[in-house]
Amino acid sequence: MTQTIPAVDYLVLGDEPHLVAQACAQCGALYFDRRNACAKCFATEFGTRPLATEGVLRAYTIVERGAKNGPFTSAVVELEGGGIVKANLLGVTDPEVIQPEMKVRLATFEASVDDDGTVAVAFGFEPIGA
Ligand SMILES: [Zn+2]
Repeated sequence: MTQTIPAVDYLVLGDEPHLVAQACAQCGALYFDRRNACAKCFATEFGTRPLATEGVLRAYTIVERGAKNGPFTSAVVELEGGGIVKANLLGVTDPEVIQPEMKVRLATFEASVDDDGTVAVAFGFEPIGA
């Protein structure tokens, strides 16, 4: 049987894949990496908070690389209700199509398969309604 694992530990798979952030218990600041203390208020208590799967595009860069892999679009997305995440915009590299503030939705894809058949699932964002 094929095992599926998230490529990053803040991605939760399942019927409705979503991201989970570490939320500062005192000020609510969100982090994706483990912290010993909040960068904003220095509190040391954190809880986990599931984040929305939809948000808006805040910034992007179309990255050109070898013809084999083609260009890709690196994006910064602000999720509804909070949480800013950097990820690729999937399937979109045309500057004519990409609009600042455009609505996007979390999408997962198989990033790699190891020798045991374990599938690593990564995430990106895709435009809503495109
Ligand atoms: Zn804090």
